[in-house]
Amino acid sequence: MSRFLDTRFAELLPYTPGEQPQGQDMDEIIKLNTNESPFAPSPLVIKAINDREISLLRLYSDPDCKTFLNTLARYYDVTPKNVFAGNGSDEILAFIFMALCQNGVCFADITYGFYEVYAKLYQKDTDIVPLQKDFLIAIQNYAYIEKTVVIANPNAPTGVCLPLFCIEEFLNQNLNRLVVIDEAYIDFGGVSAIALTKKYDNLLVVGTFSKSRSLAGARLGFAVGNDKIIAALNTIKFSFNPYNINRLTLLAGTASIEDKEYFTECCNKIIDIRETFTKQLYDMGFSTTNSKANFVFSAPPPPHTAVELYDRLREKGILVRYFNRPRIDGYLRITIGTKKQMTRLAEVLQELI
Ligand SMILES: *Cc1c(COP(=O)(O)O)cnc(C)c1O
Repeated sequence: MSRFLDTRFAELLPYTPGEQPQGQDMDEIIKLNTNESPFAPSPLVIKAINDREISLLRLYSDPDCKTFLNTLARYYDVTPKNVFAGNGSDEILAFIFMALCQNGVCFADITYGFYEVYAKLYQKDTDIVPLQKDFLIAIQNYAYIEKTVVIANPNAPTGVCLPLFCIEEFLNQNLNRLVVIDEAYIDFGGVSAIALTKKYDNLLVVGTFSKSRSLAGARLGFAVGNDKIIAALNTIKFSFNPYNINRLTLLAGTASIEDKEYFTECCNKIIDIRETFTKQLYDMGFSTTNSKANFVFSAPPPPHTAVELYDRLREKGILVRYFNRPRIDGYLRITIGTKKQMTRLAEVLQELI
């Protein structure tokens, strides 16, 4: 450890991203480990990034992300004062942990791994509330918590999704407590809480273009909420990095929103493939959660173990995710790929089981 590192960060345990093979390795690998889309971005996105726009990279990007945010606001039927753009939703989550968690932060024991990392990075007083045995969230356990509550919905890595009336229950428990709903996977079958931001000023919804919009590498996330909370996020952003979204990504984001038809088609394909693959897993004896995300979370039948299957799949060039953590070390998280990729995976699993 460098002697120049601030001792407050000496014990920091960073987030471990899934493997990202580069170069020619990519062609041989079936990559189902980081919940990216198997489909290319919309053709409108590809058209938007042309030679002229590339030559304009000499100029800074729009610090207000105006065109993008206007388009996004129209899409979600809110005003531009209610939306915020981040360099991936991870950046927005970082701002939230940094600046909107005065009383501390609270999240489930099984959820997106970055929450714990940000809580440590920003040294927040943290309450961890265990999920029920069936991975459902026990709302009543949050009733007296005054810390900011962060919920991934659908949850990661379980895929379990709460209906809107449950989100409303969280909001009504304490109108002076902020509730953050991380909707990274909402487009694959859940119902978004964005409409509730008009009624509740203690709700902030965070979304991303990384999963359902095939733009993980562009780094684009957004938040929707009451104008005061969006203004607060802007204060942080303009104190940190005013040009947080690059020019090409802003164009890509706008074009993606404008191609509603392509977006709907991609989401529907993923849902379809997920349902077929879930049934195949069931037929092989796996137990799988009811996922509303672009992945499944599934435990192999004994005597097989998740870690063994993870290794065997890896040897065969299929990458999935395994979490060596209490309560979930019996499961594999498998991203939904193309029909062809999932058929191949089902064949390989059939051989291994
Ligand atoms: C993927 C993911 C994110 C991060 O998305 P980016 O926009 O790529 O930073 C946030 N939350 C959850 C639950 C995710 O799974």
